[in-house]
Amino acid sequence: SLAISDLDMAYGDLDVLKGVSLNVNAGTVTCVIGPSGSGKSTLLKCLNRLVEPKAGDVLLDGESILTMKPEKLRRRVGMVFQHFNLFPDHTALENVMLALTKIKGMAKREAERVAEDRLADVGLAARMHHRPARLSGGQQQRVAIARALAMDPEVILFDEVTSALDPELVKGVLDLMADLGQRGMTMVIVTHEMGFARKVADQVVFMDEGRVVEVGTPTAIFDAPQSPRLKRFLAEVL
Ligand code: ATP
Ligand code: MG
Repeated sequence: SLAISDLDMAYGDLDVLKGVSLNVNAGTVTCVIGPSGSGKSTLLKCLNRLVEPKAGDVLLDGESILTMKPEKLRRRVGMVFQHFNLFPDHTALENVMLALTKIKGMAKREAERVAEDRLADVGLAARMHHRPARLSGGQQQRVAIARALAMDPEVILFDEVTSALDPELVKGVLDLMADLGQRGMTMVIVTHEMGFARKVADQVVFMDEGRVVEVGTPTAIFDAPQSPRLKRFLAEVL
């Protein structure tokens, strides 16, 4: 589980997170929604310390991530980005293996076995020897997800992972994430796919201007929004 308390983060003079508190229970899916610039990506980046918060704390299973070594933290908290950040000169299999041998220090043969299994899990058993350029955007994104899964993290963070994909490829990746949620993976997903959030999330978090404005079940957030800002946001995106 993650317990985020009173998190403040600034880029120079610009306050981007202002007292963000949020709990993410193990085995649940949290979807974060909100307008552009509201701090969604910054919040995810704080959770695996790609950026350092100015104040507040984040407990991962009770242990502060701020005193944890970043390498250790990144093994426990995986992240998948909008752009898949795969190595172009390596096959899908090698891309997943590299994370295991370099970051986890796993022996090559074992890394290969784990990488094959995780690529099979995301439906890419037949394509694991292809380089990224020979895979569709959706397949590349699934390689990136397989790479995150291979590390066996406690939580995976997803930042707009379908927004760079061609429309016909979006559903496959969303279905894969829904499937991971069903299997009990703890996930925090920044998305503008409201249908997905409604269907898959255990809790939906609405952020605006660096604050968590509203948290609730999909039904509460989408069918009975309380704050004027959330009502306005939903009127624009739905
Ligand atoms: P989007 O939906 O467009 O991805 P977001 O909710 O993810 O938006 P963030 O990327 O967290 O928003 O940005 C929050 C604020 O911080 C914005 O005002 C943005 O301009 C600013 N910001 C983000 N990254 C940086 C950076 N590296 N340096 C300076 N300012 C930044
Ligand atoms: Mg963002």
